[in-house]
Amino acid sequence: MPETAQEVLRMIQDEDIKIIDLKFIDLPGIWQHFSIYRSELDEDSFTDGVPFDGSSIRGWKSINESDMMMVPDPTTAWIDPFMKEKTLSMICSIKEPRTGEFYDRDPRTITQKAIDYLISSGIGDTAFFGPEAEFFVFDDVRFDQTYNKGFYYVDSIEGRWNSGREEAGGNLGYKPRYKEGYFPAPPTDTLQDMRTEMLLTMAECGVPIEKHHHEVASGGQGELGFRFATMVKAADYLMTYKYVIKNVAKKYGRTVTFMPKPIFNDNGSGMHVHQSIWKDGQPLFWGEGGYANLSDMARHYIGGLLKHAPAVLAFSNPSTNSYKRLVPGFEAPVNLVYSQGNRSASVRIPLTGTNPKAKRLEFRCPDATCNPYLAFAAMLCAGIDGIKNKIEPQEPLDVDIYDLSPEELNKIPSTPSSLESALEALENDHQFLIDGGVFTQEFIYNWIEYKLDNEVNPLRLRPHPYEFALYYDA
Ligand code: GLN
Ligand code: MG
Ligand code: MG
Ligand code: MG
Repeated sequence: MPETAQEVLRMIQDEDIKIIDLKFIDLPGIWQHFSIYRSELDEDSFTDGVPFDGSSIRGWKSINESDMMMVPDPTTAWIDPFMKEKTLSMICSIKEPRTGEFYDRDPRTITQKAIDYLISSGIGDTAFFGPEAEFFVFDDVRFDQTYNKGFYYVDSIEGRWNSGREEAGGNLGYKPRYKEGYFPAPPTDTLQDMRTEMLLTMAECGVPIEKHHHEVASGGQGELGFRFATMVKAADYLMTYKYVIKNVAKKYGRTVTFMPKPIFNDNGSGMHVHQSIWKDGQPLFWGEGGYANLSDMARHYIGGLLKHAPAVLAFSNPSTNSYKRLVPGFEAPVNLVYSQGNRSASVRIPLTGTNPKAKRLEFRCPDATCNPYLAFAAMLCAGIDGIKNKIEPQEPLDVDIYDLSPEELNKIPSTPSSLESALEALENDHQFLIDGGVFTQEFIYNWIEYKLDNEVNPLRLRPHPYEFALYYDA
């Protein structure tokens, strides 16, 4: 894989690449792209950028000031395996042409600013992030049929759709039993070939691949694994991950959803995020003898993350559907505590033996409807605030939190119950995001308004299918 502008330009010659596809990340976290002929790309494109009209991009500029520049990152270049003509894909950051500065609403720029903040704070020079995004593969045909017959909602409401439970005792037909998708071998696992193709295609796109497997839900849920990376890289990899997974599924006539809770009463899809801070090549989260061998710095990072979690979730769990996942009983976190090994806690410390380099925390709240650049930046800011102010987290909890009595549970703060309440938390708690110059106040208000206008309120205004089940003949 090329590293520099010169190497990319040479690759375009050597591989006889015709088209350069430039991709950038919009506010909600979806790739937007536009293609140029090879002759339009030169060395200056990598510093000044390639002009485009940014006026109709969600959450960005208005019509009267719409010219923007896309600055491709040469370390993100790969030949797109899904295109007929040889096409080189690159991920871009956005610059304002008038000032030549990186655009303060560009999510990728915001992640970079979070790293700059980590460095200027003196705490560390590297933040490693490792997201694990789960997803469902659905069969278009079955989805259409059940939907068209009107069964989709009914079954989803009852929690029966695709769950296989109706057939218990009868012919399971190699369908995973309820919550037993993790992880019987084929023929029960029908997605092996597709996931393998997804994983290998990801490697062709420069993502350091590790593994893939079926997930817990009763059918069609999966997860692929790639190696952790520095923050911007990890977010770039995640975008490539989603792109490859969706496009391979399409080849098989299937669709993929990263919706956190597509099926009522079955496991949802999370995106746990592993994180650690390093300085001068040394890991800083290891502290022999502390709880779970965590350093004071790691504990304070957790303190900050848990304290600011309701606000952070406005970025890491930014869809109305996100909060249908954060309920008890499905390995999704509901309480803002930390714990060693306990998967019902929001922050889990994986048992990683005695290698200081492996010491990290796993924040289990996020899901893949987030814009990873904004979510990672928000998490790091919360952690930095914890370290700077030596915020102590509440005592770790090593029991299964789902089994606690109501009185015991009362002492534990819980995750917000809706996107609206997470946005409210963000409105009341965002100084930690602004302190290091990572987010601007204006960006945060814009985000809250965007989410309320485009997601929270449109859903609130619509009659819900379950209301028909409850009230239709009342
Ligand atoms: N699907 C679960 C979640 O929503 C996680 C399951 C797992 O990876 N152990 O977070
Ligand atoms: Mg995993
Ligand atoms: Mg998983
Ligand atoms: Mg995990």
